[in-house]
Amino acid sequence: MSEFGPLSRIAYVNGSYLPHNAAAVHIEDRGYQFSDGVYEVIAIHRGSLVDEAAHMERLERSLSELEIDWPMSARCLSIVMRQVIGRNRINDGIIYLQISRGVAPRNHAFPAYSESSLILTARSMPPFDAAQASKGVDVITIPEIRWKRRDIKSISLLANCLGKEQAVQAGAYEAWFVDDDGLITEGTSSNAWIVAADGTLMTRHADNAILNGITRKTVLKIADEQGIDFVEKAFSVEDAKAAAEAFITSTTSFVKPVARIDGDKVSGGKPGPLVARLLDYYAEHMNDQAAV
Ligand code: PMP
Repeated sequence: MSEFGPLSRIAYVNGSYLPHNAAAVHIEDRGYQFSDGVYEVIAIHRGSLVDEAAHMERLERSLSELEIDWPMSARCLSIVMRQVIGRNRINDGIIYLQISRGVAPRNHAFPAYSESSLILTARSMPPFDAAQASKGVDVITIPEIRWKRRDIKSISLLANCLGKEQAVQAGAYEAWFVDDDGLITEGTSSNAWIVAADGTLMTRHADNAILNGITRKTVLKIADEQGIDFVEKAFSVEDAKAAAEAFITSTTSFVKPVARIDGDKVSGGKPGPLVARLLDYYAEHMNDQAAV
């Protein structure tokens, strides 16, 4: 038995480590009432957090854009994250953390005083499996109906949920949002990429239209290091359907080839060579992170 005692899922809620099914927040928490909060999902690979610093930087940005106070120092949060990983004995999986503006009588404007709420959960997932990760998936395209601050990792994910449900109903893995100009913004929970016919790697530039994924940033860094030509620029559904390769990136999907877009095959329906290379590099990156 480890120092953390017998196995049961443990959540962290505002200062307490509780059995997962007993963990709860106040009904007037503004996260519950208004989606007035932000979150992060960080991968755990061989017991280590993947790209922790980048996730903390994005969390800081999301909080400051919404003027939500840190519930504790970043240093304390890193200790709590390790406690949650240890108490749940996670080797491979994810940690979820959410910070809301806290509890206050329901009123749209910010309360004069509230203490930010913090919750953390963690869950095991099957360890990274290159064969599984390299399987192509289908995506569909759907109209972009979200608000204009998608750069903030807000817990307000209703449009994303509706989009993902549409994907599931269509037998697909992901849905790509398409803006009024016919350009793909991103997936409901991932960033969208193509390899154009001339071999150029493309993903939309990071502005308010998309969440700047940590996996996206890592893949761009890898491309840079490996001398792979890339451009951060929006592409259309037609561009994507005509592309040599397409893929998605996210903390939980890693680098995932797209086999079909709206039923049309990309790259002959098989993972292309560049995405396969990028997935290898990404797997190496995760191993390096675990070795730190
Ligand atoms: N876009 C959206 C809308 C997302 O929800 C996610 C996953 N949180 C991403 C992109 C990918 O971000 P990351 O690589 O940091 O997981």
